[in-house]
Amino acid sequence: MAKIGINIATGSLQQNEMIVGIDLGTTNSLVAIIHPDTKQPVVLKEHDGVALVPSVVHFGEQGLVTVGDAARDFLVTEPQHTIFSVKRLMGKSYSDIKEHAGFFSYKVIDDNTDSLVKIQVGSVFYSPVELSSFILKELKSRAEHILKTPVTKAVITVPAYFNDAQRQATRDAGKLAGLDVMRIVNEPTAASLAYGMGLGRDETKTIAVYDLGGGTFDISVLRISNGIFEVLSTNGDTYLGGDDFDREIVRYWTGLAGLNEEELSMHKNLAQEFRLLAETAKVSLSCSDNFTGTVAGETFTLTRSKFENLVEGLVARTIRSCTQALQDAGLSKEDIDEVVMVGGSTRVPLVKEQVSLFFGKKVHDTLNPDEVVALGAAVQADVLAGNNKDVLLLDITPLSLGIETMGGLMDVLIPRNSKVPSKAGRQYTTQKDGQGSMRISVYQGERDLVKDNRKLAEFNLTGIPGMPAGLPKVDVSFLVNADGILTVKAKELRSGVEQSIEVKPQYGLTDDQVEKMLLDSITHAQEDIRVRALVEAQTDAQQILDATALFIGKNESLLTSQEIAETKSCMESLSALLLSGTKDEIQSGIETLNELSRPFAERLMDQAISKAMKGKNIME
Ligand code: ADP
Ligand code: MG
Repeated sequence: MAKIGINIATGSLQQNEMIVGIDLGTTNSLVAIIHPDTKQPVVLKEHDGVALVPSVVHFGEQGLVTVGDAARDFLVTEPQHTIFSVKRLMGKSYSDIKEHAGFFSYKVIDDNTDSLVKIQVGSVFYSPVELSSFILKELKSRAEHILKTPVTKAVITVPAYFNDAQRQATRDAGKLAGLDVMRIVNEPTAASLAYGMGLGRDETKTIAVYDLGGGTFDISVLRISNGIFEVLSTNGDTYLGGDDFDREIVRYWTGLAGLNEEELSMHKNLAQEFRLLAETAKVSLSCSDNFTGTVAGETFTLTRSKFENLVEGLVARTIRSCTQALQDAGLSKEDIDEVVMVGGSTRVPLVKEQVSLFFGKKVHDTLNPDEVVALGAAVQADVLAGNNKDVLLLDITPLSLGIETMGGLMDVLIPRNSKVPSKAGRQYTTQKDGQGSMRISVYQGERDLVKDNRKLAEFNLTGIPGMPAGLPKVDVSFLVNADGILTVKAKELRSGVEQSIEVKPQYGLTDDQVEKMLLDSITHAQEDIRVRALVEAQTDAQQILDATALFIGKNESLLTSQEIAETKSCMESLSALLLSGTKDEIQSGIETLNELSRPFAERLMDQAISKAMKGKNIME
């Protein structure tokens, strides 16, 4: 049933509440929607025609918070109260960012290095989630002002390499800003969607998305097939962007003026003036050949060819990342069908030329590169609102997901690097007669023993009716949805009892932690194999001990007292080995007990057969 609402401001009928698309950028953020009349994506602009909101938050007197251009003006004058580039801190701990700590001119707290970072402004501590929520709140209220209707639902974009912790942090920031985040979408996916790629049903294409923004560079290789987007590889440099172009110009000019960096850092306002003029020069050189401007009464000029000269090394670095991304995806340049340009810095003609030269084809640059991600987010929002047929997004799980089985072993249901959405299931059974419940413990990681992995959740499947060990069939299924949320279900098939739980995999794990978990699994591989073999032998031994004890209990009459004594002593020595024996010792103990008890089983069988034959007529 479609929802119908009335727009109070305009009095018009609104079908379905609008979902906006948000590009929450490192440098700039903006909102786009699908225009209700033209059905085309458009960015939302204030009366001054500006769509981009600088991702800067300033904390003024008496808790006054400003966001955007007004906040940007305080970057130089009140650096301790002005937060920029908060996206770099999302889902990160201090140890993740410490080598770049000098980059932040505000106070990043470093007391507890493994927990998530906090930023101190005056006497108040803020998390990156809270700081991002200020930007999102600003975007939300601008959108409401422009659209004259409440905006509560959004699709927000993130870089393709964001892990679950960073995605979840972005989602939380949305929630905190009063937004219902319908979907987190990869930026390169959104950019492709803005160009209409992936909307055709039978389309199969490989796309390279080159994104050079203010402070970051990302190259992503995507494959679209049948409306499904898959990230084949990502590469880039999280500290390379248009700001570095500006810096090169400043260095050139101040060099000409005979100023050194130390003098410049003493005169903050002068440095800021140089930086602003450098950015103006760069922007103007994107469409003209010469630039002239003044700083403190002195004239500075720059030609396009000199500018290109200054930045060609930086551009070359981005091209090297492209080579790497292709290699990681197992592709060559010829396999790339489309190249999409994203980010304000791709307006620089040299950048376009070099990228086009490298891939050997014309690049897509007809849409504004700093708007294209938001436009694509609006397209995705429209799909989610049900106005467009479904376009799926595929991502991958960074670590394996599984459950604990006998002896503390990790049984992997969804291996690492699986595409999501992903589904897997397996059957388990009970170990003891009449076992009425079963504990399902969910773990994430690559090690063979669950104690070395990370526990995500645990629950009990209760109400299993009394049955002999091994008879109940417990179906455990894992489902990871498109947002990376895992649902685990356990169901006993004979009785139908069922339990389920929802887990957010990996929330709070940093890139480094994931990397360490992967590294550990490699370092400990040998040891893990040895331990796994031992645990398996122990489990087998316990099972045969239980079964033999049961057999003796039930069928004492079939055995001689000598046989019983022999068996019992053999069981005792296997029990002792269980505690302290090696894998081989335990296995030979199992063999001995097996040898000893095999004739009993045969005897039982014979007896059963002769019983069954009694009274029956056997036709010859
Ligand atoms: P982000 O994705 O990092 O938030 P954007 O995509 O908005 O950032 O890119 C911002 C960068 O683009 C800034 O460094 C800005 O100077 C640069 N930029 C914007 N317009 C132009 C232009 N016409 N020529 C060159 N650089 C530009
Ligand atoms: Mg961007």
